[in-house]
Amino acid sequence: MLVDALREAYARLDAVLEPFSCDLSTDCCHFERTGREPWVTDVEWTIVAKALGALGGRDAVAAKNRRTLPIVNEGRCPLLGADGRCSVYSARPLGCRTFFCDRVQGPGRVPRDAVRDALRELQRISEQFSPTSPTGRPLRQRF
Ligand code: SF4
Repeated sequence: MLVDALREAYARLDAVLEPFSCDLSTDCCHFERTGREPWVTDVEWTIVAKALGALGGRDAVAAKNRRTLPIVNEGRCPLLGADGRCSVYSARPLGCRTFFCDRVQGPGRVPRDAVRDALRELQRISEQFSPTSPTGRPLRQRF
């Protein structure tokens, strides 16, 4: 029920942000480049975990995505595939849907009120789903 409510909140936000895109630099998936890492709540992780299960499980996906010779520590997300695409794109957490990068392309400014509405909805859902830890934790701590 709560997971479904979150999926609906994702769908509403995705619809509003549909006209926007980016240059697929994957900067936002390299957390040491940006100094920002998404915090993922338990209810968000439930959706990610289901997607990972369909791909063989969390550890299998992380192992497949791992780079063997990192030149510098760029904080690469374990869910970023070798093809530069998110392994769980349709299930990605809210923080990965918001176009915070200043290179966003689209018709004007990203409607921040819609992003704020989605964040408030996530907060409401998460407080019910995980009353003792509604804020979640950094994405890499899920691995
Ligand atoms: S979950 Fe996907 S979109 Fe989000 S940082 Fe990781 S690879 Fe990038």
